[in-house]
Amino acid sequence: MKPPPFEYHAPRDVGEALRTLAEVGGKVLAGGQSLIPMLNMRLAAPAHLVDISRLRELQVMEATEDGVRVGAAVTHAQAERSEAHPLLSRALKLVAHPVIRNRGTVVGSLVHADPAAELPAVLAVLGGSVRVARWDGPVRDVGAEEFFVGPMESAVQPGELAVSAFFPALGPRTGAAFEEVARRHGDYALAGVCAVVTLGEDGHAEAATLACIGVGHVPVVVDVAGNPAEAARVVRERVEPEGDIHASADYRRHLVGVLAERALRNATREAGVRGA
Ligand SMILES: Cc1cc2nc3c(=O)[nH]c(=O)nc-3n(C[C@H](O)[C@H](O)[C@H](O)COP(=O)(O)OP(=O)(O)OC[C@H]3O[C@@H](n4cnc5c(N)ncnc54)[C@H](O)[C@@H]3O)c2cc1C
Repeated sequence: MKPPPFEYHAPRDVGEALRTLAEVGGKVLAGGQSLIPMLNMRLAAPAHLVDISRLRELQVMEATEDGVRVGAAVTHAQAERSEAHPLLSRALKLVAHPVIRNRGTVVGSLVHADPAAELPAVLAVLGGSVRVARWDGPVRDVGAEEFFVGPMESAVQPGELAVSAFFPALGPRTGAAFEEVARRHGDYALAGVCAVVTLGEDGHAEAATLACIGVGHVPVVVDVAGNPAEAARVVRERVEPEGDIHASADYRRHLVGVLAERALRNATREAGVRGA
């Protein structure tokens, strides 16, 4: 199918992009890897598209000891190659196929807020944030817990541009893992679990957080530090999976428990190595 007609805008800088969004409304076009299929399937019909993919100001990644800030025009492939954040790189390898990662953006994936997408879980488990700007208002940083509002719905409002995302660094004695099951490599996961574990001096888990995908309307974040041995049960109680042609709700619930145990084990092992 072909997309419905739209007017295409190619602003020369972020200011012009914000002004255009304020004037004409419409949708931001980043990598187009979700938006273009949605237009072609007539699931969206914006009258205007504002293309940010060539804006140099948004093509930057900044890594400090606190974490990594990823500009809105940075592609999955660029972020993956940079290896600036070990958990982000690991999750990116699970996102779709290389040809899609060459165009799709990290921030676009966050704004798109697909409940089965990997990157929202990474932002959620790390407690990261997204920086949002608009023409006629101040820039605001939205924490992950408020950013994911519902399935395919983020806190970015019409007329706004998400300019970057911040992924906090993994601290000392901290390990991370991402485990998922997909029908074929590159498909959206049936379910997945991202884990971050910090060990205390005595080797016990001081902090252990999981973020589950494909089993709720937004990434389901579960703190299991108090009872890591019960992680599978706790996670199964917290999630609200739905069944579809690929997997029943019961299967997804079972699967996410298995993945929680595996992710926790692997993150704990890595924390031990990083703490050595
Ligand atoms: C075959 C296929 C398989 C895929 N598999 C996976 C997968 O396994 N895991 C996964 O996570 N994703 C998957 N995807 C989605 C893909 O990774 C997209 O790249 C990503 O979801 C969106 O990024 P984008 O830059 O292409 O955004 P676009 O498609 O350009 O935009 C997506 C939405 O976000 C909005 N938007 C984008 N950037 C901004 C911004 N900076 N500010 C405000 N709004 C913005 C757009 O207006 C639009 O509504 C798959 C896609 C395809 C086609």
